[in-house]
Order: sequence, then C-alpha cells, then structure tokens
Amino acid sequence: MNAPLIRRPFWHRALQWLGLAFGLLLAAAVLRSWYAFRDRHPGYQLRIAIDDQPSRTSPRPLRAGFAREKINPTLGDSARPVWLAGFSQHRRATAIHDDLWAVACVVDDGYTRVGVVALDAIGFFHDDVIAVRGRLGSELKLDYTIVCATHNHSTPDLMGLWGPNFLQTGVDADYRELVIAAAAKALTAAVAALAPARVAFHEIVVPPAGLVADTRKPIVFDPDVRVMHFTKPDNSATIGTLVTWGNHPETPWSKNTEITADFCGALREALEHGVKHDGQVLAPGLGGIHCYVNGAVGGLMTTHPSVTVHDPFLGRDFKEPSHDKSRAVGRQLAARILPRLREPAPAGTTHAPLAVQARTIELPLDNALFLLAPVLGLLDRGHSRWMHMRSEVAVLRFGDASIACVPGEIYPEIVNGGVERAPGGDFGVEPVEVPPIRAILPGRVKFVFGLANDEIGYIIPRSEWDRAPPYLYGSPKSVYGETNSLGPDTAPALHAAIQGLSRELTAGRR
Ligand SMILES: [Zn+2]
Repeated sequence: MNAPLIRRPFWHRALQWLGLAFGLLLAAAVLRSWYAFRDRHPGYQLRIAIDDQPSRTSPRPLRAGFAREKINPTLGDSARPVWLAGFSQHRRATAIHDDLWAVACVVDDGYTRVGVVALDAIGFFHDDVIAVRGRLGSELKLDYTIVCATHNHSTPDLMGLWGPNFLQTGVDADYRELVIAAAAKALTAAVAALAPARVAFHEIVVPPAGLVADTRKPIVFDPDVRVMHFTKPDNSATIGTLVTWGNHPETPWSKNTEITADFCGALREALEHGVKHDGQVLAPGLGGIHCYVNGAVGGLMTTHPSVTVHDPFLGRDFKEPSHDKSRAVGRQLAARILPRLREPAPAGTTHAPLAVQARTIELPLDNALFLLAPVLGLLDRGHSRWMHMRSEVAVLRFGDASIACVPGEIYPEIVNGGVERAPGGDFGVEPVEVPPIRAILPGRVKFVFGLANDEIGYIIPRSEWDRAPPYLYGSPKSVYGETNSLGPDTAPALHAAIQGLSRELTAGRR
C-alpha cells in the first residue's frame, strides 16, 4: 500500500522561495555595503607637531617655489562623456573654455617645508589626498602637504554625485588618476623651483555687494581677500601669490556646459598677465604663478544669477551668468590686489618661521544620503570605522600669519563670528562654535583654507542646524545645506579640533 502523498500547499513553497531570495538579497547588500565602506587607507593616522623655535632663534633665509600642471579632461569621445560637477546630474561637458590647473606653492623656512596644491575641482576626498601624498618622494622633504579644491562647478565630477543619472557616478577613474598625478607633479616641480624669497601678507577689504550673495540666514560673509605675496629678495620681482577669498566658483551657473576655471582662473590670469583690452594694457600684470585657495564658502556664498557684477576695467555690468561675468568677478579681485602688491613699501620679510599642527580627525556620519550613496557606487570613500569618516584638520603659523585648514565648506559665521541661536533650529541651543576661528588663530593675517585635504560638505553651526519644522527664521520651506553635510556634530568637532591645535601651536611659543 502506498503511503499517502503529502503535498505542501503552494503558498508554503512560495514563501520558502521568497525567504531564500530575500536572504540572498540581504547577503548581497551586506557584502556590497562592506565593500563600499571598506577603509581605503587602514591605519592612516597623521599627527604632525612642528615647533618654530629653532627657526625663530636662529633664522635661515626663506625660500619659495611655484609650479602648475594642466588638468583638462579629454573631450570628444562620445563613448566617454565628461560629466560636470555641481548643480544637477547629466551635465555633459561640450568644450573647454579655459584651462583647469593644479597650482602648487612650496615654502621652506630653512627648517620646515610645507607644500600647498590647489586644484580647479569640485572637491577632493581625503582618500585621494592620501594618494597624492603617497606619490611624493621622500627626497622632496615635504614635512606637510595641503591639497585644496577650489570647489569649481564647471569641472569634471571628482566626487561621484553628478553622473548621467541619480544612480551612476560621474567620476572617470582615469581622470581622477590624472589629477592625482598632476597634483604630485606640480608639488615636485614647486620643490625644484625653491629659491630665496621675501613674503608679505596682505588683508584687503572687499565689500561683498555686487560680488557675492549669502543665500541662507544669518547673513554673514567671509568678505576679505588675503594674499601671500612672494617676491625675489634682490629685485622684488614677483615669484607668485597665494590668494584666498570665500565664494562658490559657480558663476556661469547651471546651464553652462563649458569647462572653465571660473573667477579663480580669471583672477590668476589678471595677476600674472595683467588686463588687456583691444590691444591696450589696462593694468600691467605681476608675472609669476598665482594660486587661488577658497575660504569659507558655506552658508552659502555665491555669485548668484541675481547678483550684477561690474567689470572695473571694461566699465560694463554683467548679470546673466556667463564667462564674461566670471571674468568680471576675477577682475574685481585683481583690481583690489594689484595696486596693493605694487606699493613700493618695504613689504615683507625674508624670515618667516613655520610651525605646523596637523592631525587626523574622525567625524561621525549622520546623513542617510551619505550612507546610501556609497552603496549605490556614487561616493567612493571609505569609513575609518562604522559610521565614521577619516578627515584632517591643521593649523599653521607662517611668520606673522596663520592658516587654518578646514576639510569642507565652512559657514563664515564660524570663521568670523555671528553664529546665532537660530529660531526654528532643531536643537534650540546657544552657539557652540565660539569664539570664531579668527579670534582663536594666532598672528596678524589669518588665512582659512576651505576644502583643505578633504571635501566633507557643509560645516553648519549646531545652533543653526535645521532638518525638522518649524524652519529657520520662520521660513515656510526647509532650508538648504543639511542634505550635503555629514551631520550636526561636524562643526562642533572641527571647531574644537582647531581650538586645540591653535593652543598647541601657541604653547610651543612659551
Ligand atoms: Zn558648495
């Protein structure tokens, strides 16, 4: 006699299959996440503490060197489109209006050697900065290297967020490699170019009206231009400058599809070659090589299409976003810088001791988008441990100037003062990031390098953090910024780190 055949109901088998599929999917997701978040540089810990005591007690002559490398992408291959970063996805580059550069500046006080390289790029992740450092031979004797991005929105995507669509990265691995190699090459050439120098530090007042708007309250700018001017000690010829100012290079705006260095390039061009029009020299240039490093661009500093910019040399106004408008912004700055650098004053010194305090910092991640993007293959950067990203802060003293290196887009109120307990803020707390960074930094002229050694997005004061309604200052809709930030703990952590490093820097002086 046959045993009765037991048939399990259909829904039972279907459930089994569903369970199996779900398990496989889950395993795939876990594997994918593990791969996406893997630490690209396990164990990387930077801790630099260089005192300038020897340089102050027995000074040696200052030396400086500048060099640059072109970092244009290759256009014209329809199978490999170049995706422009910033604004929205699917912005395919159609032409090169003007060249993109990696500009390097190396200074050496006879004891300590520091290199800076500024890239015409949207942003450069810390993992890529470490890759640049890895290419620098020990024979270069660089004690510390700073890699900055100008945050230019008319350059190829190097962060992954602006590909053909929401689900595909815009980063071309070959182009990223080209930029890493060019940054290392520019630094190497700048070391080779080291020569006796005199340095003068300038702080030039630049009212923001007609140049830059602040699109988020409170209205606070980082308006002034700061310049390091390096000249030859014997004949005062310009070797180069390092210029900082705080503004988003996005002047040609979202419809532009042509690669350009924006106002940063126009400024460098005007400083080097001067301003010419119809064969006439409207302002003579300085020669040399000029490096633009962006400052506090958060909050949000921008030459918005609503801003009309006057070209001081052409005597014309530009409102519609265009390359001419970018040039007008660059010339506005040049028109203020050039006369100052030509002053026949006994500008500068040939002894500028260098002190460096730099350290790795771990920042907690509190942003679901930043968590999802790597899994989708968009953001290609590792976690030092689960939900923590490795980044870096630094404070330097250079003669009677100082430099704070901030790894992203810091809000100007954290730098200059004016952090508010914003009505509608999520935490309802008093300002945390006080006193402002410029009150903490030592020296006479205080430089803040933004997007230095990383781009972690917006660095928003905790008391102005706002994801949940009611919105800031009675705004009827949510405010922009938080979606592109690691989280509300970022600004307090960075501010505390800079305060700590400044303390250690000045402690060495006693
Ligand atoms: Zn930005």
